[in-house]
Amino acid sequence: MPDYKHIVCPHCGAVNRIPTTRLVDKPQCGKCHKTLFTAHPTELTNHTFGKFIGRNDVPVVVDFWAPWCGPCKMMAPAFAQAAGQLEPTVRLAKVNTETERDIAAQFRIQSIPTIALFRNGQEIARQSGALGASDIVSWVQAHC
Ligand SMILES: [Zn+2]
Repeated sequence: MPDYKHIVCPHCGAVNRIPTTRLVDKPQCGKCHKTLFTAHPTELTNHTFGKFIGRNDVPVVVDFWAPWCGPCKMMAPAFAQAAGQLEPTVRLAKVNTETERDIAAQFRIQSIPTIALFRNGQEIARQSGALGASDIVSWVQAHC
């Protein structure tokens, strides 16, 4: 039996079923036809967070940040770079804790930046403080 992974489209939210061996072939969304892996973190909101974390069959790393946070801004390019290196086996996403306060409260985000790794909707690891791209990649790989 072929091995499939459910992948949530970062553009329209549709859940796609992609053969695992095809993940590296830049698969497109069956609904909106945009590419599913953009090599860029997906901005999540209160509305999209639960589905994106829960329905993706690959682990999702979330960067909890805020616009007023200097270290967060410094880390943003490194996080985007890590997305390019980690996809499609891991997906990267961002939550603006200033606008998406419900999520920040739900996960008791005490300091930012904080990155958290989710698998099947469950948080399995968390790290606070700004990291460089290679540190993000090795941290994620150590926990996957
Ligand atoms: Zn789509």
